[in-house]
Amino acid sequence: MDHGTQAVWASDARDALRRAGFRSGGSRSLVIDALASHSCCRSAQDVHDELRTSDRAIGMASVYRALEQLQGLGLLDRVEVGDGTARFEPRLAHDDHHHHLVCTTCGEVTPFADRRLEEAIHDLAERLDHQVVSHDILLRGTCSRCRQEKK
Ligand SMILES: [Zn+2]
Ligand SMILES: [Zn+2]
Repeated sequence: MDHGTQAVWASDARDALRRAGFRSGGSRSLVIDALASHSCCRSAQDVHDELRTSDRAIGMASVYRALEQLQGLGLLDRVEVGDGTARFEPRLAHDDHHHHLVCTTCGEVTPFADRRLEEAIHDLAERLDHQVVSHDILLRGTCSRCRQEKK
């Protein structure tokens, strides 16, 4: 996923907010920018911390509310890796979407994309005669850094 894709998402997200009757600017806009500047998912705390250091601080409650509203409009995907912290990322067009690796030792979440995996899911859906509209794939294990440290 390149940066252009994220920028397109950010501008689409602003349009969607306007159509939904939200005023532009404010905390929602800051949260959109914070999410669009990363290629993968961020927790509410991550967004809050990033805005604080960038001198555009907003309260934690505003971050939560903005994430909730953006999710409610279908602009975000919620990623649950099993550590009790919800993470959010821009919902992108099918061709640009990715999945996640999670390290159960250090908690690192890493995005990956695989065309053959997407094709396999497409073929499977046809074989099962199921109209699949979305899918989530999470691979749990130990990242290379954590495996190295154990040696
Ligand atoms: Zn991601
Ligand atoms: Zn790790």
